[in-house]
Amino acid sequence: MAAINICHLYPEHLNLYGDRGNVLALCRRARWHGLPVNLVPVQPGERVDFAWCDLLFMGGGQDYEQKLVAGDLKGRRREMLEAIEQGMVILAICGSYQLLGQYYATFQGDRIPGLEILDLYTQAGRRRMIGNIVTRCSLWDPPRTLVGFENHAGRTFLGPSLRPLGEVLSGHGNNGEDKTEGVVYKNVIGTYLHGSLLPKNPWLADFLLEKALSYRNQHFTLRALDETVEAQAHRAAIRLTKTRWQKLLSGARKN
Ligand code: GLN
Repeated sequence: MAAINICHLYPEHLNLYGDRGNVLALCRRARWHGLPVNLVPVQPGERVDFAWCDLLFMGGGQDYEQKLVAGDLKGRRREMLEAIEQGMVILAICGSYQLLGQYYATFQGDRIPGLEILDLYTQAGRRRMIGNIVTRCSLWDPPRTLVGFENHAGRTFLGPSLRPLGEVLSGHGNNGEDKTEGVVYKNVIGTYLHGSLLPKNPWLADFLLEKALSYRNQHFTLRALDETVEAQAHRAAIRLTKTRWQKLLSGARKN
């Protein structure tokens, strides 16, 4: 029988702005789909069984917490890279998204080493990039909007081999300059969207569940779930951005 195994990495250290809600959303939606889920929280120093894990979740953390977990994370690099290349699914938010890259350089000049798995780096600026954010994401055809809340000093720049998760319609995104937001590499998604992300963008939760199923060649069809409340939350987040995009989006496909 199909089932999904989820590891939640460093839940005590990396849990900003409701990031834990993403794990709750994954588990709850899986249950509504009739899909059993096994969830294992992993603290620093504890083993992750990458042969068992289908989907790894890592939340956001401020500079202090990032420093605390960076060394522990580095020790997992080889196994993690192997699993990523095979198709393990990862959702990494903000601080942990940054740690998938080369480094995160703080504004004070500290350099926190990243996993060097993805060709991206992050340099903190003086001004934090804070607020609601709306992006257009091409994981679907036609593209769908993703909404969230961002709060980061880091400006992330992707290398040429990487593609962003979305295009910024309103907000700052990766660096406030190039209109990109997040990253996609194989089944790894990195993003600055807190919020929590998945309750307000349930199509992304289902996307991750589907990828986790196909990673292990499990055949299971997700049900069409009633998303009235989630769609309301999504539209409310778009309204909150109060930008010129608001009009455009309200007329677009009803998410
Ligand atoms: N410390 C990082 C930054 O400010 C990440 C913050 C976060 O995870 N919200 O860029």
